[in-house]
Amino acid sequence: VSAEIRQITSLTNPEIKKIRSLAQRKYREEEKLFITEGLRHALEAAEAGWAFRTLVIEENVKDKDLVRRLLDACAKQNPLILEVPAHIMESISKRDNAQNVITVLEQKWMALEDAQNHEGLWVALEEIRDPGNLGTIMRTADATGAKGIILIENTCDPYSLEAIRASMGSFPHVRLVRCSRQDFMTWAEKIKWPVIGTHLKTTHDYRAVSYKFPAVLLMGNEQAGLTDELAQACTALVKIPMRGKADSLNVSVATAVMLFEMNKAELKI
Ligand code: SAM
Repeated sequence: VSAEIRQITSLTNPEIKKIRSLAQRKYREEEKLFITEGLRHALEAAEAGWAFRTLVIEENVKDKDLVRRLLDACAKQNPLILEVPAHIMESISKRDNAQNVITVLEQKWMALEDAQNHEGLWVALEEIRDPGNLGTIMRTADATGAKGIILIENTCDPYSLEAIRASMGSFPHVRLVRCSRQDFMTWAEKIKWPVIGTHLKTTHDYRAVSYKFPAVLLMGNEQAGLTDELAQACTALVKIPMRGKADSLNVSVATAVMLFEMNKAELKI
């Protein structure tokens, strides 16, 4: 690899400060960038064609085979490559024993109007707030071949460290759209795909429906569930029956149950 690698040892280096600032949503949105940790996730992103801005590698790993493969895979993009000691890796990832490769990538968002060019099953999430739930849903959406995720109104950021971590390397394979509640309703009415909402107040068993694609699976907020406005915009409301004393399932668990049920004809080992 002939790329130029800059050695940095100070936490106050401006490039390192800029990367550390990406822990905050405000800067991620301003810069349209985000961080991913780990070599395998970076390789997946490189192979899926994501745009690399910066590659931060821990001292003494640049000659490892997989690191060389990553450097080769993104060489054409000519990213900034920084070699740093372990404590700088830890300060970026905000935890001990950080991974030895951290990359800064450009965010990708798809416009709502372009979602219909990818016919299949889409997941829509109203005001999801927990990045661990969102990352887990990204991972399950990838595993079940969903076309992408539509984030409605005020949701947590899919590009936060926590959400990207929880997506476990699935983030490069999940299209992301964000829109207001009103835009979602206008779009859904226009394209006429069935919108399957999940709701605790319905008595309609999720297994009693025969699902056809294209379709949208709509999930509600962790505390409040679906708003009445969106529930009324659904073609059908379904519920996963429960025993015991729990009054609901975690939203990422409920999404997984729904995605596997809706895809059961498609998924074969
Ligand atoms: N108190 C909220 C309510 O009454 O809707 C609980 C919301 S629940 C934790 C978050 C979301 O997960 C729900 O809006 C729904 O989309 C989904 N969910 C949770 N349990 C479900 C179930 N048993 N059947 C269908 N969806 C469920």
